[in-house]
Amino acid sequence: MANVLNEVLSANAAYAAKFGPKADLALPPARRFAILTCMDARLDPAKFAGLSEGDAHVIRNAGGRASDDAIRSLVISYKLLGTREWFIIHHTNCGMEFFTDALMRDLLAHSLETAELTPQGFRDVGKGPGSAEAQFIDWLTISDAAQAVVDDVTRVRRHPLVPKGIPIYGYIYDVKTGKLVEIDRATQAGRAS
Ligand SMILES: [Zn+2]
Repeated sequence: MANVLNEVLSANAAYAAKFGPKADLALPPARRFAILTCMDARLDPAKFAGLSEGDAHVIRNAGGRASDDAIRSLVISYKLLGTREWFIIHHTNCGMEFFTDALMRDLLAHSLETAELTPQGFRDVGKGPGSAEAQFIDWLTISDAAQAVVDDVTRVRRHPLVPKGIPIYGYIYDVKTGKLVEIDRATQAGRAS
C-alpha cells in the first residue's frame, strides 16, 4: 500500500510541475457533454473519447449504471454547468455481469474480505463476520449487456428532471479492440425531441 501511495504522490508531483495554463480552465466543461461509464480499470475515457482537462464531465460507477446518484450528477451537469449531449457507455466483459444481488448479499454476509473469482463465479474465502447490510443495497447488476444500456438510457430519458432536448447516446466499449459500438436501440430510446 505504501508503494501505491508513493507512486501516486510522485506521479502527481510530476503532473503539477507541468500544470501551466490548465490553471486557467473554466469550471463548465468546454465541449459541453457528459459521459456516464463504468469504473472498470481498463477504460480510460480521456483516451478512448479524446478528452483533455476541462473538456467534459465523466461520471463513473460500477457498471456505468443510471443510478439515482448518476442522475444527480447528470442533472447538475446540464442545469448548472451547461452540458447538452450525454453518452452512456457500458463495456464488454463487465464485472457486473458476473454476480447477482443474491450472490453479493451472500458473499458479504459471510465476510468482508475479497472474494475469489473462480471459473464457477465468485466464492467467499474470507473469515467472518460479514454483514447483513448488503440486503439493503440494489447492486444494479447486469444480465444482458445491450439491454442494460437500453434500460439506462431509457431511465435517464424519462426522468422528470432531464430536459427532452438533450440527446443520450448508448454505447458499449469493447475491451478487446478499444472501439465504441453503438447500441442502436439505446440511441433511439435516447433521441432528443
Ligand atoms: Zn464494468
